[in-house]
Amino acid sequence: MKYQNREDFEKVNDFGTGAPNDGFAQYFTGDSFLNVLVDPATSPLFLANVTFEPGCRNNWHIHHASKGGGQILICTAGEGWYQEEGKVAQELLPGTVVVIPPETKHWHGAKKDSWFAHISLEVPGENTSNEWLEPVTDQEYNAL
Ligand code: MN
Repeated sequence: MKYQNREDFEKVNDFGTGAPNDGFAQYFTGDSFLNVLVDPATSPLFLANVTFEPGCRNNWHIHHASKGGGQILICTAGEGWYQEEGKVAQELLPGTVVVIPPETKHWHGAKKDSWFAHISLEVPGENTSNEWLEPVTDQEYNAL
C-alpha cells in the first residue's frame, strides 16, 4: 500500500523512522532516515531500518567483499524499488526480501508516490566496504 502522507506512514512503520540519515545524505537523492535496531557492541549483525520519503533513493553503489559480504533488504512498510545494473527494477512491498550479492552495482529506494522502509542487514564478510557511485537520474527513476 502506498503512503503519501508521513503521519499515516508512521503508523505502519513498525521498526521506527528514527533520525535524519545525515551521515549518508550525500549518497541519497531526497531525504532518508535511519533507525539502528541493535547495539553494534553486542550484536554480531548490524541491522537498521531505513526510511525513504517519496522519490528518495540511494545512489548506485556496490557492497564490496573479498569473501562473504553483500546486503539483505527486509521490506517493512510502504512501496519501493530495487534495481541491479542492466536489469529491470523490482517492486518492493512489505514482506519482500532481497539478497544483494557482493560486487553487484545496484540502488534501492522509495517509489515516487510513496514512503518506504526496509531493514538493512549487512552480511558479514572479509574486507567489506561500500563504494558509492553516481545518482540514479530523474530520467531513469521517473521511467519506472
Ligand atoms: Mn545496497
